[in-house]
Amino acid sequence: MSEAAVDTPIEAASPFEMRVGLGTHIPELDVHAALQSGDLGFLHSFTTGSCVDGPGVRLVAWTTSCMFRCQFCHNPDTWNLSNGMPVSVPMAVRELQKYGNGLRVMGGGLTISGGEPLMQYRFVSKVFAAAKQLDIHTALQTNGFRGGKLSDPDLNDIDLIILDMKGFTAAQHDRVTGISDNAPVIEFCERLSALRRPMWLRYVLVPGLTDIDDEMARMARFAASLNVVERVEILPFHQMGRYKWEKLAIPYKLNATEPPSAKTVERAHAIFAAEGLKVV
Ligand code: SF4
Repeated sequence: MSEAAVDTPIEAASPFEMRVGLGTHIPELDVHAALQSGDLGFLHSFTTGSCVDGPGVRLVAWTTSCMFRCQFCHNPDTWNLSNGMPVSVPMAVRELQKYGNGLRVMGGGLTISGGEPLMQYRFVSKVFAAAKQLDIHTALQTNGFRGGKLSDPDLNDIDLIILDMKGFTAAQHDRVTGISDNAPVIEFCERLSALRRPMWLRYVLVPGLTDIDDEMARMARFAASLNVVERVEILPFHQMGRYKWEKLAIPYKLNATEPPSAKTVERAHAIFAAEGLKVV
């Protein structure tokens, strides 16, 4: 693949920018080879200056492809790999080098998010290894389903795992994501705990879908038992991604759903805090 094939800017003002079809010109065999080698990744975009995707100010790489179909997803344009722009590891490292000093000064680093980054775990591991060579803090934002693909040395290159937990019971996980088997997520969390790898836990609070006290209480108890969860972030649902569902003509079940009330958010905070977790 020639780098000249990429004519869309790799940087986006925000992940809410809609991007589709940027990798459709890559032959399927090359895509397969890229995934196997990890030499090439598919990215929705890079955004700079994020203060909500890990500690300090972050450069965020948004990958494409995801195995979940969360009802509240605000980036359905990241679901298909071929919507992303092909980016080689050296191209990604050049971006990192541009921002390295600034990221260090601002106590930030590189976050790889998505989509689900571990759909491209070989590429992601290579970029994280390069970031550590540059002494840049690294964070992986993941749904955890393919955490088992990362080796222990891969995990050593990731300073922080930000785990987006969608549901604790299989039934609720299925309702939210369309996949009932969340055992791989639970197993990944337990492995991170055994390896003493720092974690943040994220939970999207959606009225009528995820604001279920018993689910949150069970998740909170589990998170506390891991002893590596440094903070829990309760993310109130919003409608900023709705336009993407409309443009992509994907049926969207949450059209009439409002953001949670302050009282609902407070209740969620209290449930996690009751287990001794730091909640923000
Ligand atoms: S895991 Fe993330 S990217 Fe995938 S569908 Fe859910 S919210 Fe969207």
